[in-house]
Amino acid sequence: MYNLVQCTRCSKKMLDEEYSNHHCMPKIKEWKTIKFTNQYFIENEKGEKITSFVSHDGINYDFSEIIENKEYTKVPYVPILDTNKMSHKLDSTIF
Ligand SMILES: [Zn+2]
Repeated sequence: MYNLVQCTRCSKKMLDEEYSNHHCMPKIKEWKTIKFTNQYFIENEKGEKITSFVSHDGINYDFSEIIENKEYTKVPYVPILDTNKMSHKLDSTIF
C-alpha cells in the first residue's frame, strides 16, 4: 500500500516520498485584470499577512499567502471509493 499525500497549496496528489521534491507552483488557468483604487497591507490576529485591494466598483479583495512549509502543507490523501461501481460489482457476484 502506497502512502498518498496531497499538497494543500496546489491540491496535487502524490506519493509521500515524492513530496520532499515537490516544486509547488499551481498551474495558471486564467488571467484577470482588476482595477483598484486603494491597496492595504495588514496582518490578521493569526499573524497572517494579507494584501487588500479595493476595486473601482467598491469590492474589497483580501489576498493571503499560503506559505510553503513542507511540514504543514502536506496532508494524507485517501481516494474516495466509487460506491456505485462497488455495488455494481457486488450485484454481479451475487447473481
Ligand atoms: Zn503544491
